[in-house]
Order: sequence, then C-alpha cells, then structure tokens
Amino acid sequence: TTVGVPREAGAGERRVALVPKVVERLRGRGVEVVVESGAGLGALIPDELFIAAGASIGDPWSADVVVKVAPPAPEEIGRLRTGSTVIGFLAPLTSPETVVALRSAGVTGFAMESIPRISRAQSMDALSSQANVAGYKAVLLAAERSTRFFPMLTTAAGTVKPATALVLGVGVAGLQALATAKRLGSRTTGYDVRPEVADQVRSLGAQWLDLGIEAVGEGGYARELTEAERAEQQQRLEEAITGFDVVITTANVPGRRAPTLVTAKAVQGMRPGSVVVDLAGESGGNCELTEPGETVVKHDVTIASPLNLPASMPEHASELYARNVSALLELMLDEHGALAPDWSDEVLARSCITRTEETS
Ligand code: NAD
Repeated sequence: TTVGVPREAGAGERRVALVPKVVERLRGRGVEVVVESGAGLGALIPDELFIAAGASIGDPWSADVVVKVAPPAPEEIGRLRTGSTVIGFLAPLTSPETVVALRSAGVTGFAMESIPRISRAQSMDALSSQANVAGYKAVLLAAERSTRFFPMLTTAAGTVKPATALVLGVGVAGLQALATAKRLGSRTTGYDVRPEVADQVRSLGAQWLDLGIEAVGEGGYARELTEAERAEQQQRLEEAITGFDVVITTANVPGRRAPTLVTAKAVQGMRPGSVVVDLAGESGGNCELTEPGETVVKHDVTIASPLNLPASMPEHASELYARNVSALLELMLDEHGALAPDWSDEVLARSCITRTEETS
C-alpha cells in the first residue's frame, strides 16, 4: 500500500497528518509513504526528516490512501484517484457536500470524527487528542487576556486572591481546561449536563456546579435541551457566572448549533476585566456575544473565540493526530501491508462514510 501525505492547504492550518516517527512505524508494516514537499513545514518538520524516516517526496494524491487533517477541498477531491481511500477529519455531519463529492469521485472515506468512542478505539480518537490541545490553549489565552493573576500571591506588597475559573461543558477539552487552570493556580469549577462528569471534575480538584438539568444523549454525548430547559439553564447560569473571573466554554452537541450558555446579560453581570474564551466558535459559539474567530470586548469583558486552536500547537497536535491516523490505518492492513479492511469491524464500519466497490 502507498500512503500519501499532502501539504494542508487551508488558511492557518499548520498541522500535518503524519510525522516522521509514525512514517517509520508504517514502513515497518510494509507501507510506502509519499510526502508532498513542504507538507511538514507548518509543524517545523523539513522534508529531510521525512526522507530519513523512509518516506519519499513526491505527488501524494496518486497514493492508495491519502491521509489529511482538514476535509479535502473540492479541488483536492478532484485529484484523488478513483478507487483510492482518504482518511481525515471529513466533517460528515456539517459538510455533507464533501461526502457527496467523495462518493461521486469513487473514493472511500474514513472520517476520524466518526470513530466510535469505545475503549478499543481510544488510540484512534483524534477528537480527544486535538480537544486536549484546545482546552490547554484556551486557558493560556484566558490568562494572557486577564487583567488579574491566576494564582494566589503572597507578597511584600500584599496578598492577591486567586482567580476563579468556570468551565462550561466538561468533555475532553473542558477537563483539560480545568486541569490547566488549576496548574496555573486558579480556583476551578466545572459544569455539564451529563451528571457522570461530576466525579471527573472533582478528581481534578474542581468544584462541581449542579444546576439540576440532565441531558444525556447517545454515544456518550449530550442531547439538545428543550426550550424550557434552555431558558432555565441560561437563567441559572446568569446567576452563577457573575462570581467568576474566567469562563471557558466548550459545549457542543454533535451536528447541531452550539447551545447558548452565556447570555449577553450574563456577560454584563461579570466584573470588568473578566474573560470568556469560547471554544465552540466553529459551531456558532456558546456565548451570545461571541464573534467566531474574533476577540471582542463588551461591557469591559473580553470575549475570545479562537478557531482551530490545535493548529496553533502544530508540533504536538500533529504528533498525536498522526498516531491516531496510523492506528486506524493499521487496523486495515494485513500482514503484508496490503489494505484489507474487515467491514464487520465496528470501528471501520462506523468511521467509513463513503465506500467504493474497488476497495477490497
Ligand atoms: P463534545 O465536544 O461533543 O461536547 C463538550 C461537552 O459539552 C460535553 O461534555 C457535553 O456533555 C457538553 N454539553 C453539551 N451541551 C451542553 C449544555 N447545553 N450545557 C452544558 N454542557 C453541555 O464532547 P467531547 O469532549 O467530544 O466528549 C464527549 C463524550 O465522549 C464524553 O463523555 C467523553 O468522556 C466521551 N469520550 C469517551 C471516550 C472513550 O473511549 N470511552 C473517549 C473520548 C471521549
């Protein structure tokens, strides 16, 4: 099997789908790897390091399997060979046109975000590996924008109280945000509509905010709230948020617009100099005043909505993502390194979003 690694074309996308260490590993499984010249430059990986790992530099698009980070653009789909396979974030729920284009191009597609979140597939869980980067970075951004210290300081000039940080939506990114905010010395609180998260929040030394609203959906995700639940949640959060210096929001429901958790009124109630970092900007945002991709100041509160934070830490984000992609790819390889997907495998069946006859 040949595996192609294109240079990511999206604006600001600095990650690459395979890194040299993982190339070496795949070579050991009998796979040929073709890397587009400059594919690793965003992550500061020169072509030479890929070559040293056993890859060749050339046209990645004619390979049997093309590995990507971001969904392929229409022009890129046009370069994929009929009967080939593409692995990457393919956004099947939010970008159905990509699915249609892959199908008409006769390409088999595996979407990293559709891999079931079961124990056996943890090594392939790219949503988690990238969400960890986002949660970590969100706290650093908040600290950078804050007019106040995170840690408690006892100095000759007096004592400074620790900042208080509230994380709304405590999935993978939220847990990492709680852990990072704690390491910086703030007092932390977590909130979610899945009650099972309470113990995880407490185990990170954070308080659990209980608003009495439960909304457990399928596959470990939350469900959308009803109109009445939403109104009640917003009102209770308005009261709770007032006391916090930093609010980090990560709430998402797969395939839906992100829920509004922080209303304009809640922002108005925050102390001047406080910060909201909204990680749900890509799906519309969790704060009513969020402008996706922008940092705005409203009522003297900074509201930042950074997009694609994982790309801002391209070295480790690529390293983790490459391991995720490789684990999925290796699941499909036979002992000679040929592509032989077992379609009865739940992981492959669920992550496969288009399938051609030619993929055996
Ligand atoms: P996500 O990005 O879809 O959402 C982030 C968080 O927002 C979730 O915790 C969700 O409950 C919460 N949320 C949604 N609507 C909300 C609302 N109205 N109010 C408050 N919070 C709201 O989630 P994710 O980080 O991708 O994780 C989803 C689940 O997958 C978690 O249960 C996680 O533990 C689980 N998971 C399981 C495995 C595994 O292998 N077993 C691996 C990774 C993740």
